[in-house]
Amino acid sequence: MDRRHVLGAGIAGASMLTFSSVLSQSAPNPGAPTLPEPGFRKMTLGSIEVYAINDGALRRPLGDEFVRNAPLEQVKALLAAQNLPTDYVDIPFTPYLIVSGGTKFLIDTGFADNGPPTTGKLRANMAAAGHKPEEINHVILSHFHGDHINGLINKAGELVFPNATVHVPAPEFAFWMDDAKMNAAPPAAQGAFQNARRVLGKIPTNKLVRFEAGAEVAPGIQSVAAHGHTPGMCVFTVRSQGQSFMYTADVTNVPSLFARSPDWAVTFDMDPEMARQTRRRIFDQLVKDKMAMGGFHFPFPALGTLEASGGGYQFKAMA
Ligand SMILES: [Zn+2]
Repeated sequence: MDRRHVLGAGIAGASMLTFSSVLSQSAPNPGAPTLPEPGFRKMTLGSIEVYAINDGALRRPLGDEFVRNAPLEQVKALLAAQNLPTDYVDIPFTPYLIVSGGTKFLIDTGFADNGPPTTGKLRANMAAAGHKPEEINHVILSHFHGDHINGLINKAGELVFPNATVHVPAPEFAFWMDDAKMNAAPPAAQGAFQNARRVLGKIPTNKLVRFEAGAEVAPGIQSVAAHGHTPGMCVFTVRSQGQSFMYTADVTNVPSLFARSPDWAVTFDMDPEMARQTRRRIFDQLVKDKMAMGGFHFPFPALGTLEASGGGYQFKAMA
């Protein structure tokens, strides 16, 4: 595959998630994913609170296309070795809420009411954790795939977090807003560009802040370049009183596959080789530092640590 083809496949995969056409595939209906109850989990980090707050999940029939560079039989064998089902993969969607002093930061947003019925649970789960959308002061985005940004604007076209300033990685914004890049993308990939424009275009310009990869987005919240899954994706390290936590966004899709076998490429990785190098670099550091971590597609409680395991990594959820 040439690079452009790979890029197109990644974007097309992402817009499939966005528009839930996975549900209309001809494969037999694999049933509904199990959602966590309660749908939030809190950890304390120095004087800061970190919450994983689930927006729901999708159950995706497992086909040849999901892992691009491994035979389906090997993929199923790795799932079976972990006592996981082999006919489908449950992909959770989990934004993180950081409460620091009186200020509330939401990192990534889920779908709001724009996605399939097993998503859009963020508002209810946030309420159960004691937080309201109007109280969010800042939304920080890791990248512009639909499952991360669509929760900003509901179906009626309203701001879901009406008082929030929205912080976006500058290289991510530059890529998706570039008309030349959109026009050069294959037709199946155009939807993701249009979706990014539709959502970000509704944020008032005085409430949209672009940060450079590596910049401190807010006191105690540092962005880290993690390009590859998308051209400008960033992850975030949160620090307080000598303790730290990293939100790794889509450095891996489900860790049962792509942390355990980190050289495999999920269909959504737009530059698989860069994504692979980023995954190993960031995960090696997390293992070395024994840092608390989580990620958007991690199984609940979606807070824990990574350990080296075989040639890859294993997620250990907190007790
Ligand atoms: Zn993504």
